[in-house]
Amino acid sequence: MSGTPFNAKYDYLSPQRVVFGWGRRCELGALARPFGRRAFLVVGSRALEGSGAIAELEGHLRKEGIEPVRAASAAREPEVGDVDRLAAFLRERGAGAGDLVIAAGGGSAIDLAKAGCAMATNRKGATVRDYLEGVGAGLKVEEDPLPLLAVPTTAGTGSEATKNAVISSYDPPFKVSLRSDRMVPRVVLVDPELHVSVPRATTAHTGMDAITQLIESYISARAAPIPQALAIHGLALAATAIARAVKDGADREARERMAHAALLSGMALANSGLGMAHGVAAALGIHAKVAHGLACAVMLPVALRVNREVREAEIARIAEVLCGRSFPAAAAAAQAAVERVEELCAEVGIPRRLSEIGVRREALPAIVKSSYGNSMAANPRKVPEGELTGLLEAML
Ligand code: NAD
Repeated sequence: MSGTPFNAKYDYLSPQRVVFGWGRRCELGALARPFGRRAFLVVGSRALEGSGAIAELEGHLRKEGIEPVRAASAAREPEVGDVDRLAAFLRERGAGAGDLVIAAGGGSAIDLAKAGCAMATNRKGATVRDYLEGVGAGLKVEEDPLPLLAVPTTAGTGSEATKNAVISSYDPPFKVSLRSDRMVPRVVLVDPELHVSVPRATTAHTGMDAITQLIESYISARAAPIPQALAIHGLALAATAIARAVKDGADREARERMAHAALLSGMALANSGLGMAHGVAAALGIHAKVAHGLACAVMLPVALRVNREVREAEIARIAEVLCGRSFPAAAAAAQAAVERVEELCAEVGIPRRLSEIGVRREALPAIVKSSYGNSMAANPRKVPEGELTGLLEAML
């Protein structure tokens, strides 16, 4: 048999219920009702609070007899202290049976809520750090977290469909995951109308994050059939929609396409893992405070080049989807994929050089050291530290 190798042994995990559609936030109360009568809210956007969108969501809950309680605002990508504070708040208020948590925000709010839900019911450790991959005390999420209903307001990280929460610390520096199959949100409500207010640059960065996730999960060392099918579908939707959404944030079809692509990117990454772009992006977040989506976008072209030889057929398929045409040979197609991704980045205003996003040469050794987490482990080709250093130096 020719073509892409078929990985015939896999697990597939995804949210129990996905509700997708323009304006469907009015169903929030009915969706929350089966879980209880009190909903702790974790919100992730001052713009949505200011526009009255969060108050509207609270109104939809009250209509169904659910009491909304503001539990946290995610003003930044979540840190260990933010999760510990949210968990303490939930425990102090006796959160348990009959309660749920609703995250309405970008990946930062959803991750904060996911980790808070898990830490509210898993009480062996003094801090979420004890449970974090690689840096913790090895504690596991053994008890079911509080039920979480995720309403993503960026498109995006796909965190609404994944089993991990990315948690940062600056002293000591790390950006790693709290991960458990139990942490997948129970219900996902995607209303792309909530994305209309996302500013232009954030639309570009979060959209490129979704595209990077779709591409990296498709070529990952752990790629599997269902996520690959989802990734290709998502990529086809995002290929032209991202530039439209950046140009005109009120373009309904572009917002719908990007919201769906982001959701699929989460389903794909949760089951296939990622790769080098995400590995380095986490390190850029910690050592140079680069926003997650921007960091992924800057790293995507070089990650594609690095993996081109070992994933030529898959990258050729990506080229067909991104360019909307077929190619006579895989090598030419793979080259076209890299070039198309570079064009896409330029179209939506992503800089090419690390120095343009605030990365200084002195930070490179620490960035390299911090790049080898769970994402890098799924990169289809091993990238030794010396090679990565050279690649990053060339991007300064
Ligand atoms: P974000 O949640 O930090 O939001 C970016 C900005 O957009 C914020 O200023 C926020 O206030 C604003 N915003 C959000 N929604 C808005 C709206 N509708 N209108 C106006 N402004 C709005 O950014 P993000 O990229 O969505 O999330 C990044 C975080 O997600 C990072 O910590 C990253 O590591 C993590 N992440 C998690 C996963 C996962 O599977 N758990 C996957 C990828 C990334």
